[in-house]
Amino acid sequence: MKNQASTLSMSKARILIVDDEPRLIQSLQELLQGYGYQVDTAQGGGNACQYLLKKKFDLVLLDLRMHDMSGHEVMDFMAKQEITTATIVVSGESSFSAVSKALRRGAYDYLKKPYDPEELVSTVKNALRKKLMENSHEIMQRKLQRSEELHRYIVNSSPDIVFMLDRQGRFTFLNNKVESILSYSKKSLLGLHYSEIVGNDDVERARYLFGQVGENQRSIRSFELHLKTADGMRSNRFFDITIFPIERNISDLKSQGADSKARKFIGIYGTARDITERKEAEDFINFQAYHDLLTRLPNRALFKDRLNLAIAQAKRNNYKLAVMFLDLDRFKVINDTLGHAMGDRLLQSVAARMESCLREGDTLSRFGGDEFTLLLPEITGREDSRKIARKLINVLKEPFTLGDHEVFVGVSIGIAMYPEGGTSVEQIIQNADVAMYHVKGRGKDGYQFFVESMNTPSSNRLKLERDLRRAIDNNELEVYYQPQVNAQSSEIIGVEALVRWNHPEKGLIFPAEFLPLAEETKLIIKISEWVFETACREVKQWIDAGHTNIRLAVNCSPTQIEHPRFVEKLMVQLKSYNFPSKNLEIELTENVIMNDLEYMINKLNQLAEQGVTIAIDDFGTGYSSLSYLTKLPIHTLKVDQSFVRDIQHKRTDACIVNAIIAMARGLQLNIVAEGVENAVQLEYLKSLGCHEIQGFFFGKARPAKETLALISRNLQSQAV
Ligand code: C2E
Ligand code: MG
Ligand code: MG
Repeated sequence: MKNQASTLSMSKARILIVDDEPRLIQSLQELLQGYGYQVDTAQGGGNACQYLLKKKFDLVLLDLRMHDMSGHEVMDFMAKQEITTATIVVSGESSFSAVSKALRRGAYDYLKKPYDPEELVSTVKNALRKKLMENSHEIMQRKLQRSEELHRYIVNSSPDIVFMLDRQGRFTFLNNKVESILSYSKKSLLGLHYSEIVGNDDVERARYLFGQVGENQRSIRSFELHLKTADGMRSNRFFDITIFPIERNISDLKSQGADSKARKFIGIYGTARDITERKEAEDFINFQAYHDLLTRLPNRALFKDRLNLAIAQAKRNNYKLAVMFLDLDRFKVINDTLGHAMGDRLLQSVAARMESCLREGDTLSRFGGDEFTLLLPEITGREDSRKIARKLINVLKEPFTLGDHEVFVGVSIGIAMYPEGGTSVEQIIQNADVAMYHVKGRGKDGYQFFVESMNTPSSNRLKLERDLRRAIDNNELEVYYQPQVNAQSSEIIGVEALVRWNHPEKGLIFPAEFLPLAEETKLIIKISEWVFETACREVKQWIDAGHTNIRLAVNCSPTQIEHPRFVEKLMVQLKSYNFPSKNLEIELTENVIMNDLEYMINKLNQLAEQGVTIAIDDFGTGYSSLSYLTKLPIHTLKVDQSFVRDIQHKRTDACIVNAIIAMARGLQLNIVAEGVENAVQLEYLKSLGCHEIQGFFFGKARPAKETLALISRNLQSQAV
């Protein structure tokens, strides 16, 4: 198509006249020049071919019969050379075959010689007009084609998936990106509803959002969605999607008078940008910001955030919640001896075990180092927290295997409940922490609820400490005795010595108020020694008065026992009061023993050899492990009050009492149930075969004089 680009205009049209008769050529030339055309002439077919190769013409007037080369041959030549110049055959040849031959070769028209000049000029004009139209059409066509190519290129090289939906939400167009990003072939998607490729969890939301752009609402919307990939429908990718309605002017379609602004919704146009990588990066950054990477647990920041929410909810709904502060015991030793890598592994295993004890809504976080915090939202009361604390203590009690090593860790748990243990995030956490420190103070490995007295403000604390130091010298301490009774006969067989403080201003203070402080300040050693001396002296008088079998139970604090000369000092004191060692029972908590088992075995054996009996106090709240019981010279197991308290309410906890008592009986230990307050509890414990009872049902702790009177009365009633 050599002359395709000729910018044809009617007046400047270039015409070639081909004939072998010079006269005719001339008259034609003059005629056409008279109309303003540019006219070239060629005598004979051969010449014409040469001209046509050299120059571009808009029209050829061609004679058919020429002596060197026929007009048909010239037309063949033009076809061969792809010269598309319009041709009008002007010839004396009028046979049908010659004309049809010429027309078949693409001649625009045929004029018979001798021609009528007017007819010739009008035929030339028409041919040129037609050519002009054809040319401009062709140019438009090419422009369109190029523009379409350009758009196709833009659409396909877009980084996004571009799509169109019909009114029903079926794909009517998709660019190539859908193949490279989601691995669908375009063909397979055309005609499908968009929801077929939306991630299962997002389908509902997608319907809502697409609906907002649809028929009735017609706004532009951007949102994020998961789309399924073709290979393995489960591997979703994440997309940022923008959609808007495709509309057509309804006035185009409707008759006059229609609202010119009315538009008809015909579908949706949209783009989908793959933001999976960005999302994953964001998720990871978020995860890092809010999690501890070692244990993958929430970190301090996330914990506080969740606690904040939980407090708001608890406030609104009048719920309770609990926060536990957990600190591993013995972690430092393991970390120092086995190295940090092992320490890390231990923390991971600890986290995993703890998580196995929790419910879905609970948040366990690593607060730092070997400290963890646990949020229990929506609990009904202390009993729930107690259960979970026990569960946690139990799962961590099992040994951990680290390479070739088997290690034991324990956990000290402080619990603060909302609202009584604090009403703000910081306060609750701090109070749980304070309670945890009290557990550590009592010998670690156990749990304790926060009580206000633990938080005595420091100035108050200082005063309390000063007062406590003076209390011994000022004779403000007093030993009270609580009877321990034979379950079957109700006979008083022993007493537990419990210290009281007669504060000059505050009146009678119970040990929970001042023993934690005494532990911290080591004043406990002095206090315990005083209690021990006083109790030995007083009870010795009762023994001497005829109550020869009365047993004195004395509580020992962790600090006291850790003293290297604990046994020696105790024996010296016993001797100085001439107190029969068989009448003495020492009460220890399990945690004190577990802190250093080997050392304790040795010490307790020494005591047992002297005839002193040993009781495990508050059994069930700490380690509650069978294995140590068999290694130690233990005589009595004191079942913790919390289990006894549950007897009347719930069968499940009654089961714990059953289990403890059955176990103690199996080990042939003497059993004392603590905190018995009513006949129901007493009867149940008796039915289980519990040997001894201590609790308000048989009397609170009282001063020595009153207790002696009680024992004497008891003896008399036995005698009667
Ligand atoms: P513990 O050794 O478990 O003593 C039993 C506690 O339970 C006593 O509280 C007692 O008054 C209380 N209790 C007894 N029966 C009942 C009952 O039926 N219902 C209720 N609700 N409570 C009952 P207390 O005297 O306040 O002593 C608290 C803790 O302080 C003792 O628990 C013991 O661990 C410690 N403690 C008391 N005196 C001494 C002491 O002289 N030295 C040492 N190291 N610790 C002591
Ligand atoms: Mg006790
Ligand atoms: Mg107890």
